[in-house]
Amino acid sequence: MKTKSLIIVLVFSVFWLQACPFPAAYGATRLDLVVEYGVDNKSEAQARLALDTSTNFFQSTYSLGLERDLQIFLVPNQDTYRTALMQHYGLSDSQARNVAESTGGFSRGSAGATIVVNMGSLTSGQSQFFCLCHELVHQFQSQESRDRHNSIRWLSEGVADVLAAHILDTAGLRKTDYQRYWQEIVKRAPRWPRLEDLHSYDDWFASMGANGPSVTYGASALAVLTLVRWKGYRPLFAYFNSLKQLSPEDAFVQAFGLTMADFEKQFTPF
Ligand SMILES: [Zn+2]
Repeated sequence: MKTKSLIIVLVFSVFWLQACPFPAAYGATRLDLVVEYGVDNKSEAQARLALDTSTNFFQSTYSLGLERDLQIFLVPNQDTYRTALMQHYGLSDSQARNVAESTGGFSRGSAGATIVVNMGSLTSGQSQFFCLCHELVHQFQSQESRDRHNSIRWLSEGVADVLAAHILDTAGLRKTDYQRYWQEIVKRAPRWPRLEDLHSYDDWFASMGANGPSVTYGASALAVLTLVRWKGYRPLFAYFNSLKQLSPEDAFVQAFGLTMADFEKQFTPF
């Protein structure tokens, strides 16, 4: 395969020395952006802007910086995406095919933090920006929870989508009313998944198969938007941080002030 890798190393500690009042807490974290042959310059620029805006957002909103090295691979199409999923995450050919068909990006926090994004599958600058932000949110979730962030899948995916939309807003780049967009998707669907059926990895993929990825992600994002409307953005990362010591149910009560079961019963997407 013909691949040209342009490796740009950003030593983030330099940025944090300027932006953060406590630079010693972050150390010399490296962020490597690998741009594969076939990704155009415009897409690459959009990805860089997304990374910059997201890291600034996390610093200013949650006082968080990346504490571990992160490699990000931008790939140009479905074939290279599938190959990258096998290469970087050890997925089998059929697993990689399934993931490549239902996602535009993939992220792993533990054992070598890595993000892969299929820039070719994302047809607008906004969707490329959104996808990079979404995957970067997963990195912060993983870091803050010590990799316990996926215990409740609707929360980890919903927070990644809601914050990606919010970060687009903070950059003045948002063209889509995401709340309306997610509501329209869920309204058009014959049925939408209940939150209590979106906890585990298996639940999540079962819903993706039965209801479709858009409805599964849309319902989760609308649930998180409801939490944001009630409690604001700050508790979102209080929840992930508490997962270090607490069960997801106790972390939820501590962050949002009600039980997860009560919220799941009360939530409706419209
Ligand atoms: Zn995700």
